[in-house]
Amino acid sequence: MIDLHTHSLFSDGSASPAELAALAHRVGLSTIALTDHDTTDSHEEMAAACASYGIDLIPGTEISLVDSEFPIERPGQAPRGRGVHVLAYFLPLDPASPMQQFLTSLRRDRATRNESLVTMLQGFGFEQLTMEYLLTKVAHPDGIGRPHIAEAMFTLHPEIVGERTEDSWRAVFTDWLGTDGKAYIPKTELSLDDVVAKVAGSGTVFSVAHPLLNYLTDYTTSSIEREMPAIIRSLKDRGFVGVEAYYGSTPEPIRSLMVKLTRDAGMIPTGGSDFHGAFKPDVALGVGLTGDLHVPDHVADELREASSRAAA
Ligand code: AMP
Ligand code: ZN
Ligand code: FE
Ligand code: FE
Repeated sequence: MIDLHTHSLFSDGSASPAELAALAHRVGLSTIALTDHDTTDSHEEMAAACASYGIDLIPGTEISLVDSEFPIERPGQAPRGRGVHVLAYFLPLDPASPMQQFLTSLRRDRATRNESLVTMLQGFGFEQLTMEYLLTKVAHPDGIGRPHIAEAMFTLHPEIVGERTEDSWRAVFTDWLGTDGKAYIPKTELSLDDVVAKVAGSGTVFSVAHPLLNYLTDYTTSSIEREMPAIIRSLKDRGFVGVEAYYGSTPEPIRSLMVKLTRDAGMIPTGGSDFHGAFKPDVALGVGLTGDLHVPDHVADELREASSRAAA
């Protein structure tokens, strides 16, 4: 069993890389990819910990990009680019490499966004919420994300947002932090196609994260069969090798359908739990939210082969 989508406290997970590796050992993973948002800074610690357990580590990251081929269309509004999450695997670790330079620019953009967001929330009455407070919660200043900010809103200002429950957590995104919220501050929009072009020849390969969440609003079998083949085909034509068909929050039989559609397109069905530790307490490493996720080992081998081909 493998897990190719996990987060540590280098982004918005709660486990340190060493704790994550220990947990991976306990649940019996043979390969893990740590895919912290916008960073591979956790790699050194994670590699050492994984080596001690004999677990193979794939260097990865998850980045937020815009796919303009499939814009979001809403009645009465101009179409806008679709925000999608992309998993990149087998990243170069050399800070001078184009991909690492790109990740650095993403982290700077995130830091600027976070500062504006905090100032805006203070203006809305979240007066205790400061960057200093948030910085006590992360391994790296540029690892701060909206989940940390949401958590701080509950800890510091329950008089505004109430006690943290599943519903109130969702409401904080709907009312404040999400794309239609009062305090939404977008990050710079970067095109998916530009990023794929940036890594040509480096051995980095891409898989689209949680494709249903990115591209569809209704997850019925019929809408998936109708919409997904063209989306998958387009991503393949634009240089993607994988689709995260085995996503740990997607139940059967939808997951198997996504695996089939991915295979039909000649692509690799990648998979993972999207483990975030205490930030998503119901999501378990390896087996996901549904508890029955099982990403087969050969998927990691296929990704390794694709990476070798991409490095040629
Ligand atoms: P950021 O990296 O700061 O843009 O925050 C993105 C993260 O916020 C995602 O990975 C999710 O964990 C979380 N998030 C974004 N939108 C929502 C939402 N509507 N409901 C719950 N969590 C969300
Ligand atoms: Zn995350
Ligand atoms: Fe994501
Ligand atoms: Fe994720």
